[in-house]
Amino acid sequence: MKKLISIVIPAYNEADNIFVIAESIKRVFSTLNYNYEIILVDDGSADHTLEKISEYAATSDNIFFLEFSKNFGHQLAVKAGMDHAFGDCVISMDCDMQHPPELIPDMLKKWEEGFEVVYTIRADDKNLSKGKRSSSSLFYKMLNWLSDIELEPGAADFRLLDQKVVNVFRNFHENEPFLRGLVKWLGFKQIAIRYNPASRFSGKSKYTFKKMVNLALHGVTSFSIKPLYSAVYLGFILSLASVLYIPYVVYAFVNNVEVSGWASVIMTIVFFGGLQLIILGIIGIYVGKMFMQTKNRPNYIIRSTNIPVR
Ligand code: UDP
Ligand code: MG
Repeated sequence: MKKLISIVIPAYNEADNIFVIAESIKRVFSTLNYNYEIILVDDGSADHTLEKISEYAATSDNIFFLEFSKNFGHQLAVKAGMDHAFGDCVISMDCDMQHPPELIPDMLKKWEEGFEVVYTIRADDKNLSKGKRSSSSLFYKMLNWLSDIELEPGAADFRLLDQKVVNVFRNFHENEPFLRGLVKWLGFKQIAIRYNPASRFSGKSKYTFKKMVNLALHGVTSFSIKPLYSAVYLGFILSLASVLYIPYVVYAFVNNVEVSGWASVIMTIVFFGGLQLIILGIIGIYVGKMFMQTKNRPNYIIRSTNIPVR
């Protein structure tokens, strides 16, 4: 019996990419001795993505789709695909050809060698805009500094997971999973391979600056409570400073040395007011997460699918 490989592809307004990616995966597998299935997850697209997928699915029996009831985001789209994948291993990749399907044979080779997680690291892409590159490198620096997991810069959501690992993931019900971090956190036998990203085949990136900032904030706060400690440390440092400063103020008062300084008082108030708000905000983010998670709502909602009940 040939092994079955599931390919999970999230798609958000990718109508012009569906055919291209599916065909190139088909080409790659024509040289391999595996069965494969493609699970395309339509993440609430507003264009003809779903029609293109259904059209393509009608031509072969190994193309499946999940249609979300609205846009739930990239991470949940991948999670949904994995939840419904049936393969001996699952490969997740983007829809826009930036993750080269030609890498699949190498990933499968590593998997056959016994690795349970094969993740990929994107080589620095000279084609990407400077802004995107530096924001991406800042993202990883911040994440590693503030959280307890180490992610390599350029770690991509292009990875192979053994069925064992996918089964573990099925029991995760975080309402905003950060897969890159979670996979690292899980353990198992992991290995990285490098690849040169291609440029987007059609359409433009769905990751706006706002979405990237959110992903970064979210990546940090879902993996560590280090930011909460910052309040404690800052508090200690500032209390110590004020303890040293208070005797001076008392001395100046007693000796009637003129204590001028309207400006410095206002600056201090404004500065510490800001600091307190930031720290309050950090605490707020964690409380907010607890609130959202305690509601226990479904993480994503599927409107339709052609995946048979199995
Ligand atoms: N994507 C998604 N939901 C979203 C945003 C993106 O399913 O809300 C998909 C998108 O269709 C693509 C992948 O996630 O397959 C990566 O998105 P994109 O290429 O826009 O990100 P970038 O490569 O620029 O980081
Ligand atoms: Mg892309």
